[in-house]
This record gives sequence, C-alpha cells and structure tokens, in this order.
Amino acid sequence: VAELGTPDRAVLTTCAYCGVGCSFKAELNGDKLVRMTPYKHGKANRGHSCVKGRFAYGYAEHPDRVLNPMIRDSIDQPWREVSWDEAMQFTAARLTKIRQDHGRKALGVITSSRCTNEETYLVQKLARAVFLNNNTDTCARVCHSPTGYGLGQTFGTSAGTQDFDSVEQTDLAVVIGANPTDGHPVFASRLRKRLRQGAKLIVLDPRRIDLLETPHMGDSWHLPLRPGTNVAVVSALAHVIVTEGLVDMDFIRTRCDTDEFAHYAEFISAPRHSPEATELLTGVPAATLRAAARAYAAAPNGAIYYGLGVTEHSQGSTTVMAIANLAMLTGNIGRPGTGVNPLRGQNNVQGSCDMGSFPHELPGYRHVKDAETRAIFESLWKVKIDPEPGLRIPNMLDAAVEGTFKALYVQGEDILQSDPDTHHVAAGLAAMDCVIVHDLFLNETANYAHVFLPGSSFLEKEGTFTNAERRINRVREVMKPKNGYADWEVTQLLANALGAGWHYTHPAQIMEEIAATTPSFANVTYDLLEEKGSVQWPCNDAAPEGTPLMHVDGFVRGKGRFIVTEYVATDEKTGPRFPLLLTTGRILSQYNVGAQTRRTENNAWHDEDLLEIHPFDAENRGVREGDWIRLASRSGETTLRATITDRVSPGVVYTTFHHPDTQANVVTTDYSDWATNCPEYKVTAVQVAPSNGP
Ligand code: SF4
Repeated sequence: VAELGTPDRAVLTTCAYCGVGCSFKAELNGDKLVRMTPYKHGKANRGHSCVKGRFAYGYAEHPDRVLNPMIRDSIDQPWREVSWDEAMQFTAARLTKIRQDHGRKALGVITSSRCTNEETYLVQKLARAVFLNNNTDTCARVCHSPTGYGLGQTFGTSAGTQDFDSVEQTDLAVVIGANPTDGHPVFASRLRKRLRQGAKLIVLDPRRIDLLETPHMGDSWHLPLRPGTNVAVVSALAHVIVTEGLVDMDFIRTRCDTDEFAHYAEFISAPRHSPEATELLTGVPAATLRAAARAYAAAPNGAIYYGLGVTEHSQGSTTVMAIANLAMLTGNIGRPGTGVNPLRGQNNVQGSCDMGSFPHELPGYRHVKDAETRAIFESLWKVKIDPEPGLRIPNMLDAAVEGTFKALYVQGEDILQSDPDTHHVAAGLAAMDCVIVHDLFLNETANYAHVFLPGSSFLEKEGTFTNAERRINRVREVMKPKNGYADWEVTQLLANALGAGWHYTHPAQIMEEIAATTPSFANVTYDLLEEKGSVQWPCNDAAPEGTPLMHVDGFVRGKGRFIVTEYVATDEKTGPRFPLLLTTGRILSQYNVGAQTRRTENNAWHDEDLLEIHPFDAENRGVREGDWIRLASRSGETTLRATITDRVSPGVVYTTFHHPDTQANVVTTDYSDWATNCPEYKVTAVQVAPSNGP
C-alpha cells in the first residue's frame, strides 16, 4: 500500500472465486487498485476473507492477459491480432457457413460459472435465440449437476436450503466429500466457530480433513470411506435411523409422501444396508456408523454440508438423493441450523444453473419441453425455441468426433484442462471448424481455437453473482475493461454480427429481462440490490425480501419425496496393475485449474501439485518424502512429487489439480454420473512408482 499510495475511494463488489461470495471493498488511489478489503456488512462473509480473495486483483493486472481479438484459419497457423470488427465478421462468416452446411444443431455454447448471471443469460440466449438450438451447457456439468438433479427430484428445486447464518444454530454438522478449510475458507471459519462452541461433527471423507482437528468442539466422528462408496455409507446411516426407531414421524406425516416413505423404509431396513455389511464394503467401522447415525438423529439441529466428493461420482445424483432422504428422515429441514447445503465450488455456479445453462432447462429450471415456459421466451425473443433438449458437453465432443458438431463458443472455461479424459476433449475440439475461446488468458483450450476473444475480469464489469446460499450479490465496475468490452458486450457483439439486433446498454436491462421471464427472480432489480445489499432467491411477490431458508412450511415440489437409493459399485476397479485409488481436491491458496491464482501472489504458497500417499504404500514402493513419482492409470500417466502422510488411508492416494504441468485429468477416467454425466473425478484406479522426474 505504501508503494501504491493511500486509497482515496472504494467500490463495493464480490469475490470471483468460490461459492461463498464474499463482499469486498476494492480500494483505489486514483485509477490504481491498492487493495481488496473484506466488507464488514457483507452478508455472506461478515467482514472475513481468505487469501484467495484478498489477492485476486493480481491476475487482472497480469501481463499474460490478451487484450486484442485474434483469429486464424486453422489451428496450425499462428494467431493474427485483429480489430473487434474483423474478429466478429470472421466469426459470423464461419458460423453462418457451418449452419448452412451442417444445420443449426452443429453449433453450441458453454457458459461460465465465473461470469455474471447477466453474461450467462446472454450466452444461453445466443444458443436458443440465435443458433436456434438448446446446445448450451456449463462447467457445472463437471461439478454440481448431480445436485441439480438430486435436489430437484427430492425437494423440488436445485439449491441449498439454508443461508450461511444458519450454521450458527447448528448442533451437529455433517460434512460429506468437502474440505471447507481449503475450498470454502470463510464458510469454514464460520463453521469452526460453531464447532468451538461445542457443536458436534461427522465427516464422511476418505481423507482426514482439518475440521476434525478443531479444538473444543463436541464429539466428532470421521468415517474414512473407500472412494466410490458414498451411497453405501449414507444408506447405512439411514438404516440405523429407521431400524432403531429414530425417525421423525411427525415431520414425515405432515411434510412427505408417506407411501413413498413406506416403500423406502422397507428398502433401507434390509440387512444389506446394515453397518456390519457396510463396513465390509466401505472400510468404515460398524460401530462408528452406528454412533454417527444416532448422533445425527438425536441432534436438535443437524445440518449437512457437502461438496464435489459427493457429486463427482458415477452415483453422484444417487448420493445427493440419499442425503436428502437422511435430512427428511430426521426432520432436519426447514428451520435454522438444519438443511442440505451443497458447497458450490465456483463463484457463480449456482447462478449459471439458475440462468438456463443446461441443455434441457430454460432459466429457472423449467424444462424446454414445457410449452408454456417456451411461450414466455418466444414472445419476448420473437423466435421459436427448439422443444428438444440439446447436447451436454461430452455429447458435443462425441458429436464433433463423429463429424456432426462443428462450432463451439466457450466463455470463461478451460475445458481442455478441467474436463475429464483430456485426449478425448482434444480430439473433439480438433475436429471442429470453429472454436471460439472467450477468456482472459490464452488457455489450453485456445490451442484448438480459431477465434480468441479477450475477456474482462470481475473488476471490469457490472452484474451479479449468486452464491451457494442463493444470495444474489452485486458485482461493480472497479476499472474500465482493459480489452474494451465487458463479457456481456462481447456476446452481444457476436449475436449482432449474426443478425440478432440486441441493444442492451447496461446489465441492469438484462436483469429486467431475467426478472420478467423467471418467477424466482421476479422482484430482483438493481435498485433492490442497492437498497438491501443482496437478496436470496426466490425473490418475488410471495417473498419480496427474498428467501433465507427454503422448504419452511412445505417443499417446493409439495410433499418431500423419498427415493430408493441402491448402491451400485463404480466400474472403475482396482487390480494388480492399478491397486490404489486416487481421489482429488483443492488447496487453500489455489483455485481450480489455477489460471487466476497462479498469476497472483498466492502461487508463492503452493507452486506444485503433490501426491499424498500413506506411509505403508510409500514404503512398499520405495518412495520417500519429496521423491518424483509416476502416477499411472488406464487412461494415462503423469509425473509429480510425493508427500507421505497418514491423512490418507492405506490404498488411497490424493492430489490437487491446480497446475497444468501435473495435468491430473490425464489419468482420470471417462466414467460419469448415470443421471447427469458429471465425471467421476474422485475415483481412479492408479499405480504409483518412483520416477526420475518429468
Ligand atoms: Fe470468500 Fe471464497 Fe473469495 Fe475466499 S475465495 S474470499 S472464501 S468468496
């Protein structure tokens, strides 16, 4: 600060990293951003922040940013810097030819969970109203799509049930497949504060996470399950609750479908769900399962928080529904301190789903087959909306390899690095005639692009993000876009180059359109956000101030629905060649594939991905602390250094995926969730062997 001068003004905005959605004051000296200070009245963070958010502005100023559009005829040619006009003419000509030669379904888009609601809304509108298909998908495909499916089926809407304040009334927290200390640090500090006051903790995770070391907390249980066995463990907890008579029957009689409950109770009472049978499958001791189930059922307020360790499995959607069953069995829903709460990884993953990014849903989670919903958009957009769902990301790539899908506009995502089976992603991209990458940096996906459109950082735009508690926070322009246009303007340029005739002059107008078409946003305006600071959807005539807690008097779908959740083992098996199971996660100072955090001071704290391996497994392989190892699976191999720890159980290894040198996704499989195609990142059979390095 001394070097940059004393701040003379501040702009209130929202962190663009994780789903906590912390409010910050961006403090400036003239036009120079001096520091980011957490805002004490921010309703998600209450004045706290983590190292990611504090130093986020570093990447906005990074010299790696590309500030001018670039084009090339084919991906083996060098890039050519061009004006925005020329870039748009080139892109429109290519897209028009592809549409003429291959039909309207040969084009698609991928929205970004890093961009604003308004930007996401425009990208899916580009697909539906300009390309005239539903080929729109989002990176939520590879993280929380099972949450959308599972909570939609059981409760009727795809969103966390609580606000973050609710944790202050929790008596027992169940944390499943999440490591909030690293992934959602400010929420973790709020949870840890409650634990230090004596709240109890149950953790379902193959790895021993930091929360388990919280001093002065109440009783705690770690259920170190074998990767891939979430459904079996959650079902065992439900088995104990049902067979020991710990069910909240008053809640079920008044709030749930009782016929479905009767069917479920019979199913879950079967001996195959008993703790003893489950111990054999999962490695979690039966006594621990019983104790944890009894504690959750007995807690006055029990809250479940979960992360990608739940969703990124072949049974991701099944686990989400099993978790919902558990909450309904014990009546832990609809009041403070309870609920089912997905911890969203990215700043606007909730919003990108809300805004209709999925190929089967228009904004507000309404199916494209629903004629009434289509009519709302058709009358406004003056087009016919395709009633058939479009392609998901993996299907777009498959169709590209088959030769029927030819053009993709990717906003703010590096699918080559973040999606599973890197070789298949590369093959799909290489087979397309027009790949448009719209990003801050020349990312790995851009190696396969014909058009590069420079993106704007969160500091250079107006808009909104929606965090994990459904809170719509304002994002405000701290500095002018360095590339000349905010991302929503770039999408508008592209749409208009294709003849759309859009004329938005400010994102507030896009929000007006969202409110006019999407019932859960009906009362959301920038004026309201200015007045309240933020609001949680649904925000409409029934809830003019927004909705901190959902499902208070009844579920969105009416009666809560118990769904039978049978455990089915993943097809990914260990064997003599690949005897260990790899699972993955994050570290506090880095964010996702690291494109932003590696370009900030955070990189000094963690500049490489390490493989965690148990001392037994390390000794068996002659691996010592810090040694280079070769990590190989049936899909591929990579090289990284090892760290030896008993945080992981024997037979399990763990790594992060922040650095492109590691390319952890080279080894992951192409198995995915049965309902949503969310990739099974969390279970890969691998072998580890000493190596001389990369
Ligand atoms: Fe808050 Fe998450 Fe940003 Fe950290 S990364 S400041 S917890 S929003």
